[in-house]
Amino acid sequence: MFLLLVLFKGGALAQQVEVLWLGHAAFRITSTAGKVIVIDPFLKRNPRAPAKYKDLKALGKVDLILVTHGHGDHVSDLPELAKMSGAAVVINFELGNNLVALGMLDGSKTIAMNKGGTVAPLGPGIKVHMVPAEHSSSADLSQLKPETAGVRYIDGGVPVGYVIELENGFRIYHTGDTDVFGDMALISKFYKPDLALVCIGGHFTMDPERAAYAVRELIRPKQVMPMHYGTYPVINRTPAEFKAALGNAPIKVLDVKPGEALRF
Ligand SMILES: [Zn+2]
Repeated sequence: MFLLLVLFKGGALAQQVEVLWLGHAAFRITSTAGKVIVIDPFLKRNPRAPAKYKDLKALGKVDLILVTHGHGDHVSDLPELAKMSGAAVVINFELGNNLVALGMLDGSKTIAMNKGGTVAPLGPGIKVHMVPAEHSSSADLSQLKPETAGVRYIDGGVPVGYVIELENGFRIYHTGDTDVFGDMALISKFYKPDLALVCIGGHFTMDPERAAYAVRELIRPKQVMPMHYGTYPVINRTPAEFKAALGNAPIKVLDVKPGEALRF
């Protein structure tokens, strides 16, 4: 029986990492050992989130939540998901501590840190590196606490991205919302991402041409999944434009639909 269990746990499927795109910048990543990481929970008001995920319970168990910055389109479901799941939350220092002070996060489960830091809240097999992003951050009370009158934005610290190193060595870089910046080359040098989740929508972030430059010249991942496009009319650029801008760069573009999961 024990042997069977070992064989089953060591089977081909169990060795894979699953990456589920939930639309916009929201992802659910399931590690080879079944640890579940959600990035930027924005589902109920996310026009591109699949209908079933408007009910946060559809995410199943969640062990860890990573937050790139405080804008509503990245955190509007953070308080509810954190409470419901009991997951640890990795978040920038000011935003994390402000959300704890507002009663939206549990301080004992909040890992408020900063760029350059690495944590392993799921055990030594999974490392989470907080890396720079070139954007802004603030906590939007109109989404997080609509009953608050008189002030809309409070200090949300700095925007960040993440590199997640999983048990099998697979490395995923989520850029967060960002313009292209030269130090993406350092992120590439330090962490050598296998898969990059890259914003391409323009207006608030890189557009397809700038994202193509970032991926081809600086990040240099093996595979790239475009995100943060098509959610609103103002970010209506497309993966086709991104592919065209990448030209013949030896990087595989994974053009998935929200709700689709890929295994690596
Ligand atoms: Zn955004």
